[in-house]
Amino acid sequence: AKSMGKDNYQFYSEDMSNYSYNRIKMKQSLDFALENNEFEVYYQPQINAKTNELSGMEALIRWNHPEDGYIAPLDFLPLAEEIGMIIEIDQWVMKTAMKQMLIWNEQGYNPVILSLNLSIKHLQHENFVSMLKSNLEETGCKPEWIELEVTESHIMSNYEESIAKLKEINKLGIRISMDDFGTGYSSLSHLKLLPIDKLKIDKSFVNDIPEDEEDVAIIKAIIALCKSLDLTVLAEGVETDKQSGFLVENGCSYIQGYLYGKPQSNKDFERNFLKS
Ligand code: C2E
Ligand code: CA
Ligand code: CA
Ligand code: CA
Repeated sequence: AKSMGKDNYQFYSEDMSNYSYNRIKMKQSLDFALENNEFEVYYQPQINAKTNELSGMEALIRWNHPEDGYIAPLDFLPLAEEIGMIIEIDQWVMKTAMKQMLIWNEQGYNPVILSLNLSIKHLQHENFVSMLKSNLEETGCKPEWIELEVTESHIMSNYEESIAKLKEINKLGIRISMDDFGTGYSSLSHLKLLPIDKLKIDKSFVNDIPEDEEDVAIIKAIIALCKSLDLTVLAEGVETDKQSGFLVENGCSYIQGYLYGKPQSNKDFERNFLKS
C-alpha cells in the first residue's frame, strides 16, 4: 500500500488484476484506518512575520499505517476520493481539529484561525453546509475560528453552485481562503465575485525568490492584487530567511512554511506555539 504514489498507480492500471487487487487492499486499509485510529491531524503554524505572532494553523492529515508506516496525504487522498471515502475522512479531520480548537480555547490559549482543506467532492456534497453546522454545534467550535481552504478547481468545476455555497458558509462567519493560488485556471475577474478573505500564494512561486525574476514579478503582482481587493495574502512553503525577508519587504507578512514550523502533532504544536 506504501507504493500507491501517482506513478505506481499508473503502473498498476496497466495490469488490471493487480490494479483491482491494490484498490481493494487500499480500500480495506482505509476503512480500517478510520476505525483503528491510524489517522492523525497535524497542525502547521501560520505566522505574521512582521510581529512574529502566530496567526493561524493549517490542519493536515497524517496516516500512520501499522505495517507500511507513514503514508503521505497525496499518496492516499486521490484514491480515497475515487472510492468515495474522502468525505468521511475530511469529516473526521474537521471534527477532530474542531474538538482540538475547543480544548485549546478552554485551556486559555488565544484562539487563532484553524484552516481546513476540503476535497471537491466534500464541498459539492448537497449536505455540506448542514454537516458543517452540525460539526460546529457538536464540538462547540466557533465559526469565527474556522477558515476553509478552497482551490480554483473547486470553484470552476461547478461555478454558480460553488459561489452560492461559499456565500452561505461565509454568512455563518466562517472565512474562506483560496489555496494554491496561481496554479489553477480561474479568471482574475472571478476573484471579486467570490466571498474570499485570503489568498495563499503557492509554494511553486516562492521556491526561487528572490533570484527568479519571473516569480518575483508574479508574487509582486499577486500582493498588489490582494491589496486592491482587500484580501489577506499568505505565502506557502517558505523555507528560508531570504524568502521570508523578500516577502515581508514586499508586503506579504503572513507566512507558512518549514522556516517557522513543520506540520506537527497537537502536543508539539501546543508546546512550540501556544505555551509561550
Ligand atoms: P496543501 O493544502 O497545499 O498543503 C501544504 C503542503 O505543503 C503540506 O503537504 C505541507 O506539509 C507542505 N509544506 C508546508 N510548508 C512547507 C515547506 O516549507 N516546504 C515544503 N517542501 N513543503 C511544505 P502535505 O501535508 O503532504 O499535504 C499535501 C496535500 O494534501 C495538501 O496540500 C492538501 O491538498 C492535501 N491534504 C492534506 N490534508 C488534507 C485533508 O485533511 N483533507 C483534504 N481534502 N486534503 C488534505
Ligand atoms: Ca491547504
Ligand atoms: Ca496549498
Ligand atoms: Ca497543494
